[in-house]
Amino acid sequence: MDQRSSSHVLIFPFPVQGHVNCMLRLAELLCHESSIHVTFLNSEFAHQRLLRYTDLHLRFSSYPNFYFRTISDGLPADHPRTGDRVVDLFNSINAVTKPRFREMLSSGSLQSSGRPPVTCIIADGIMCFAIDVGNELRIPTILFRTFSASCFWAFFCVPKLIESGDLPLNGESDMDKLLENVEGMENVLRLRDLPSFCRTTDLSDRGFLSVILATLRTTRANGLILNTFEDLEESALAQIRKHIPNLYTIGPLHAHLRARVSSSRGELPWRSSSSLWEEDRSCMAWLDEQPLKSVVYVSFGSMTVLTRNQFLEFWHGIVNSGKAFLWAIRPNSVIGDDNIPAELIEGTRKKGYMVGWAPQEEVLVHPAVGGFLTHSGWNSTLESICEGLPMICWPFYADQQVNSRLVGAVWKNGVDMKDTCDRITVEKMVKELMEVRRDEFTKCSNRMAKLARKAVTQHGSSYSNLDRLVEDLKKMKLQL
Ligand code: UDP
Repeated sequence: MDQRSSSHVLIFPFPVQGHVNCMLRLAELLCHESSIHVTFLNSEFAHQRLLRYTDLHLRFSSYPNFYFRTISDGLPADHPRTGDRVVDLFNSINAVTKPRFREMLSSGSLQSSGRPPVTCIIADGIMCFAIDVGNELRIPTILFRTFSASCFWAFFCVPKLIESGDLPLNGESDMDKLLENVEGMENVLRLRDLPSFCRTTDLSDRGFLSVILATLRTTRANGLILNTFEDLEESALAQIRKHIPNLYTIGPLHAHLRARVSSSRGELPWRSSSSLWEEDRSCMAWLDEQPLKSVVYVSFGSMTVLTRNQFLEFWHGIVNSGKAFLWAIRPNSVIGDDNIPAELIEGTRKKGYMVGWAPQEEVLVHPAVGGFLTHSGWNSTLESICEGLPMICWPFYADQQVNSRLVGAVWKNGVDMKDTCDRITVEKMVKELMEVRRDEFTKCSNRMAKLARKAVTQHGSSYSNLDRLVEDLKKMKLQL
């Protein structure tokens, strides 16, 4: 076949767990649904961890047109790459990765070894410099924002929020004030529900500027991919479309991949993890011994950092609730000494199980799990929605403040405990979720799980949008 007549997509994620997870799922869907060549450009750091902790190479080896490539993220190996230091990653990617990315594409090194030239870049929306590189080299660029559409829309409205005086924050800002300038979400978002980067008194703040500018620049891309589905974020999507008509809503990607791959092969693909930490599977045997819907699963994701006080308040609250719990507590995610009170050790021995990193998708599917205490990361939120699990939300940063508000006030499939962290509240909310308001939350959660399933089955909105994306990518041939 003439290589120049084939399409070749370069997928370029922001190199942290949540972003890598969903962009890998997109890569696999493209490979599964077409003969398009796909190169996944991962950071060296993230890739080394994937090689160490997963069988991903084996899994992708069944796709002859798939390739992994790596690039430096510019940070030293011992940098923690946690949420509180994410601006370091923004800075190093800008200084180190960006010029290397440009060089990699312009030198043609990605088309060697029998691969056609790159005909489309699908870059993480936070790295919008990919649009400039694409324009310069005449390669169409589609951006993929891996967080919620509602968060994207809130960022998009920031210029209006500045105009109206809601931002920047000042000593007198009323965090409970309902915002009038996020069109379509007027009666939903309060100042405290804006993405964490907006919690600034300084408009020249590096983190704030990076995310706002990246969002506004999205209009210059050839399209936008979102890991969501139409029924989930209708209002925000209707607003985004007014500015970015070529929108591909193809989520929830993990369920979409599961639906397409298992329907064609009869296998369960979630066994192939893309974890950057070693999964402790012993928790699955522990779950097997627990009664139906009796366990609260607790996880704050890959980027959250807890103070020792927050950690202990959560732990006391969960133990005091008397409910069984499985807690995935990432190594080095708690700051401070590790002197644990005896009553917590005893309470955990009786009712709990702790691991460093869990096979989360499998955990959430397990029949013993009845609720999720989460930091409201977008992947975790979608994974919980798909399994019809109600949530207690304690957002840490980025889009999580918006996502937790959607859970508490729009979808009503759980409670939002943002900006509080004390054992009494934790205990009360765990009891509400697992017992007192269980029926009410379960009803809303089941309704949403059904809508999610519908979106990723044939003729569903996300299913059709993925087909359209594949067709569009096939049409993008090299413009010589
Ligand atoms: N995850 C996991 N095991 C854990 C904790 C998290 O497999 O113990 C996965 C989880 O299923 C999700 C991802 O890591 O896909 C975390 O992404 P999310 O967007 O929820 O949060 P982030 O880590 O980006 O804050």
